[in-house]
This record gives sequence, structure tokens and C-alpha cells, in this order.
Amino acid sequence: MAEPLVVLSGVNKHFGDLHVLRDINLSVDPGEVVIVIGPSGSGKSTMCRTINRLETYESGSITIDGKPLPQEGKELAQLRADVGMVFQSFNLFAHKTILDNVTLGPIKVRQKAKAAAEKEAMALLERVGVAHQAQKYPAQLSGGQQQRVAIARSLAMEPKVMLFDEPTSALDPEMINEVLDVMIGLAKDGMTMIVVTHEMGFARKAANRVVFMADGQIVEQATPEEFFTNAQSNRAKDFLAKIL
Ligand code: ADP
Ligand code: MG
Repeated sequence: MAEPLVVLSGVNKHFGDLHVLRDINLSVDPGEVVIVIGPSGSGKSTMCRTINRLETYESGSITIDGKPLPQEGKELAQLRADVGMVFQSFNLFAHKTILDNVTLGPIKVRQKAKAAAEKEAMALLERVGVAHQAQKYPAQLSGGQQQRVAIARSLAMEPKVMLFDEPTSALDPEMINEVLDVMIGLAKDGMTMIVVTHEMGFARKAANRVVFMADGQIVEQATPEEFFTNAQSNRAKDFLAKIL
């Protein structure tokens, strides 16, 4: 058996008095696609941000590919490259072209030569269907196109795992599928993914496992098939009744 790629063991975090992550245990294998769902405020974003070290935590441990999360410096930059993250808001650099958005990280953090970085960036932009927009600026693209650029930008760092935090929830409905299709392609290609989303069609198509969170805890986990037809906890049943 391959070692798990991402392991959270007994992770706890507070925001002041709020116990936002409670003894989180989660292990994600290479190539696995894990969907995280749960009510607003249950700690899904905080968990993702903790895995990427955008948030600290107080107890427990997190390892990526067997290594503990670094605290600072060069190792932290390396971690951020290894753990790609795509947010609800696209977070592209507004004053840089699409191509420059994608090449910046590989040149700065991975020390790639510019020509090689641009060649790879164009291949990635092709893969997400926006290669023809390479010389434009983010504001000239639709939300769906910008989010696909954000995915290409993360992929350019050759991450070991990709985190997606509600990547389609800021998009107009007609743009949701073009982003989900890119993610389904990534999943098929074997990318390890942790995806916070309420897109159940995507979960059924792409997920190996659904993790249901409520009040800072992982309440249950199951295959999508099991979870959507036979959720065990009342919290999950209530949640599903509201969204399905
Ligand atoms: P979810 O993504 O599941 O909606 P979050 O992880 O964003 O949940 O938030 C979990 C809880 O932590 C919420 O009650 C939220 O208000 C709180 N919270 C999130 N970020 C902060 C912060 N930076 N400071 C204080 N409280 C926060
Ligand atoms: Mg959130």
C-alpha cells in the first residue's frame, strides 16, 4: 500500500472561544478524491487553510507526503507549491497577464527558466481551455475562465495535492460545469484532491469518498453512493434534506 499523502491526526483549532476544528482525523491516499461537505460555519474552509498552513493549529499533527508541515521560510514556500489551493474567489493577479499569472510561481519558487515555464503554462492553459486568452488580463475573462486559469496556475507548481474550497460557488450557473469538467479531468488523471463543494453531481462522478463535517467535527465519511442514499447521522440527514 502507498503511504497516505495527507494525514491530519487529532487536529484542534480555536478562534478565540470558538473551537473550530475538533479532533480532526483525516487521511487521504495518493490519487484519492475526497469531497468535504457540511453546513456553513462547520470548519471546512478552516480545515483546508490549515492543511496549506494559511492557518495555524494548536494540537495534533498534519503531514504532507510523510513530512510535518513547515512553520516558515523556504520550506513553507515549498509546501504551498506542493499543496495547490483554489478558492471561491479566483485571486488572480489583476495587473498581470493570464500567462504571467501562470508562470510567476514556477519562475520564482520552482526556479524554472522563463521559456520553459511559458511553454508549460501554455500547455496547461490549453488543458483548461483558455490558451487563446493567454495575453489578456484577468478582468477581460469571465468568472469561469478566471477560475480555470487559477486551476492552471496551481497545476503549474506541480502540486502533490490540490485543495479546492467551493471553487464554483461564486460563478454564474452556466459557468459551473466548465470548471467542474476541468476538475473531473484532473481527478481522472489521478490528481489527489480535497474538494469542498455542494455540487452533488460532481461528487457522484468524481469522488472516492465524502467527508461530512458539522460543528468542527468530521461526523461521518462514506463513498458518495453510501452517503447520498444512506447517511447515518441525523446531522447529515438534515443537511442532505436541505440541499438535495
Ligand atoms: P465553513 O467553510 O464550513 O463555512 P469556516 O471554516 O469558514 O466554515 O468557519 C468555521 C467557523 O470559524 C465559523 O464560525 C466562522 O465564523 C469562524 N471563523 C472562520 N475564520 C475566522 C477568523 N479568521 N476569525 C474568527 N473566526 C473565524
Ligand atoms: Mg467555507
